[in-house]
Formats: sequence, structure tokens, C-alpha cells
Amino acid sequence: LTVGALRRAEIIAVGSELLGADRTDTNSLVITQGLNDLGIDVVAKAIVGDRFDDLAGVFRDALGRADLVILTGGLGPTDDDVTRDAVARVVGRTLHEDAATVDGLRQRFANRGLAMPESNRRQALVIDGAALVSNGQGTAPGQWFEWDGRVVVLLPGPPREMRPMFEYIAREVVAPRTAGEQVIRRSLRLVGKSESLFDEMLQPLYRKWAAGRPVIEPTILAASGMIELQLHASTRELREAEDALAAAAEDVAAILELDVISQSGRPLESVLGDLLRSRRLRLGVAESCTGGLVTSRLTDVPGSSDYVERGVVAYSNRAKTELLGVPEELIAAHGAVSEAVAVAMAEGIRRMSGLDVGLAVTGIAGPGGGTEAKPVGTVAIAVEGPDRARFARLFRFTGSRDMIKIFASTTALDCLRRTILRA
Ligand code: AMP
Ligand code: MG
Repeated sequence: LTVGALRRAEIIAVGSELLGADRTDTNSLVITQGLNDLGIDVVAKAIVGDRFDDLAGVFRDALGRADLVILTGGLGPTDDDVTRDAVARVVGRTLHEDAATVDGLRQRFANRGLAMPESNRRQALVIDGAALVSNGQGTAPGQWFEWDGRVVVLLPGPPREMRPMFEYIAREVVAPRTAGEQVIRRSLRLVGKSESLFDEMLQPLYRKWAAGRPVIEPTILAASGMIELQLHASTRELREAEDALAAAAEDVAAILELDVISQSGRPLESVLGDLLRSRRLRLGVAESCTGGLVTSRLTDVPGSSDYVERGVVAYSNRAKTELLGVPEELIAAHGAVSEAVAVAMAEGIRRMSGLDVGLAVTGIAGPGGGTEAKPVGTVAIAVEGPDRARFARLFRFTGSRDMIKIFASTTALDCLRRTILRA
């Protein structure tokens, strides 16, 4: 083999239609999965239209970044199919017509009783030094070649043609040229602080991981009021890397403590569910501004009937009084969005249904209804139980109505989790 171990890949999806508003590039997702399974990182992806100069530029850049470049699309028979030509130009090679491929194309047409249009001969053009990849589903063959220590692969765009051809490339071309390393990942779920604050708190660990063996690389991302910390390591020694990632997760837990929901990527709902089940706690939820979202999320988990006993949506003041026994005077004195009312709601659902734990949420999801003292996004959350444990706090979220509902529900579930863990 004249090529060193492949580690860094770039995928280029070619096709002007992919730059429009109604089609997406799905080929790169399939290819990324296959490459990751072989321990190769995809370091960049590009989508480029059917213009020779644009594609040539993007491809040239890719050669500067990656040692494996996979292009899909633009191998059709028409003038706007420029992939072969642009790639050949950039690597300084010429194209020649492959006689066997022309015969094969003619035969395909003949089988359907048709004469082959001359334009289809373009599909038989092969970059000098490239090997062909046969296409069982369509007319355009793929091709691949080595160039300056890199591997370049051209595959057709239609996903059902591309997929089996990529599988062939992965197995026959890429797998024998990997470093024998696998990428292993571990995902931690965090909650309770901002992404940037977590990132700052974790800096000392990042430095330690960067200097360790295997090197552990972190990626931090925020979604719906939760933060995901992904750790990955490339390795030949699977056990050793798994141990290193487990130790890294423990390092994170030592610093962030209760802010770590799970070290294994499990969602808040199911971590909380296990906690309730293992402590044999029966829960009632009283919701106002979240309109049942908290109960809905809790019951997304199979088997949640073990611990979710009921959920009540008490949206109006009257409902809070009638269904949860919240005194009218309390609402009048503090307002429906207040710690006092949240506590009364949590107490009410717990007491009236004879449960171990009550959880309550009341707030202003907006866009109307805010005041200076209690702007849109003000949400009161209370937990009563287990036993004498209790929690109540007023939060202030920002964003659209649906984001405030999501943040409020995530925070409510998390407050319950923390209250049980501290009880
Ligand atoms: P082409 O190989 O350029 O003739 O591609 C023909 C068709 O394949 C396009 O019209 C798309 O419908 C589909 N296609 C091309 N590239 C992609 C891609 N990256 N992801 C999903 N579909 C694609
Ligand atoms: Mg195209």
C-alpha cells in the first residue's frame, strides 16, 4: 500500500438541487456512520452545486485537510455532471474512455430495447489510474484512486445506488488502510448551569485529557435546557480506552457533582424514573404553564406506571383551588405564579392523592401575561417529599413560549431529581 493509515475524511455532496430549500444531503450521513465504524473521523463536509470551478475549489481544499475524500453525485451523463472532470483537473490527470464500461452501458440500454444516447459515453470516462466500482442499480460506475498519500472516491448521487457501492469501498478500500483504531464515545448529560460555565469548569480536565493516553477529546453542546458532553477517544486498545473514558466521566462527576444527570447518555426522564422506582416512591404532578408536558415526559419512559400515579393540569385559578385545594386567599395574596402557590399545589397533589412525592410547576409562558415584577418566563417549581424533604424556587427563563415550556419541564424534573438525591 502506498497510502499511510487513513484517519481524516471529508465528504463532498455534489448537486445544485442539494443547495435548494427542499432536498437534503443524506448520503453523507450514511458514509459518516460507515467511516466512524472504521475509526475514521469525518473532519469536514461540503455541499457544492454542479459548477466545475466551485467543485474544483472545494475538492482542492478537501485534499488539504483530509486523507480520504469521498464525493457523491455529479456522475450522470449530462453536461452539468462535472465531478469526474473537476476531480481529474485538480489532481492533474486525464480521463480515458473505458471500453468495457461503454459496452456494459450499451448492453443495459439494449436490454430495455433502447439505443444508448451518445451522452451516456461520458459515464464511461475514467480518471487515469482509477479503479472502477460497479453500480448494480444504475448506469454510473464509481471510481477510486490513490493520489499523493490520499484516497479519493467518486460515487453516484442516488442513495440506493450509492449505498452498496460505499459498502464495497468501505470494506475493500478503506478498511485495509485504517490504523486499526476504533473511535469510542461516551456521552454525559449535564444540567443546572450554562454551557459556557460548564465549559469553564471543565478546562482543567480538558488539559489533562489532551495530555493523556489515549487522548480524550470533548465536545460540549446544549439542547433544550440540557447540556451534552461527548467524550471520544481513538484507540487500538478497546479495554484501555473504555477504562479511560469511564475514569474521565468520574473526573467530571467529581467536579460537577449533582449537575451530572448520567454518565452514559441516558435521558433525565429515565434516570429520574429509576430513582423513583428504586426508592419505591409514588409521584403526583400538578402543572399549570407546562400544560401536562412534565407528566408527558415522565410517561415517555416505558414502565413509568411504577412511579407516576397521576398528573393534574390545573391551568386556571379555579382548577388550582378545586383540584388541588390551593386556598383562594393564597392565590390572591401571592399571585398564581409564586413559590407559595407552587408549594400549595405540590402539597395539594401529594396530600389529596396520598402519594410520597408531589411536584408542581406554575409560570408565565408568554408571550402575554408578564409584569415588571414577574416577566414572561417566570416559573415557580416546588417539590414536597419524600418524607420531610421539600424544595421551592422561582426561576426566570427566556425564549419563546415553547422554549419556556421545555425549560420549565426540564428544570422541574431536575429539581425533583435533586430533592430525592438530597433527601
Ligand atoms: P446525480 O448523481 O448527481 O445524478 O444524483 C441524482 C439524484 O440523486 C439527485 O437528484 C438526488 O435526488 C440524489 N442525490 C444526489 N446526491 C445526494 C445526496 N448527497 N444525498 C441524498 N440524495 C442525493
Ligand atoms: Mg446531480
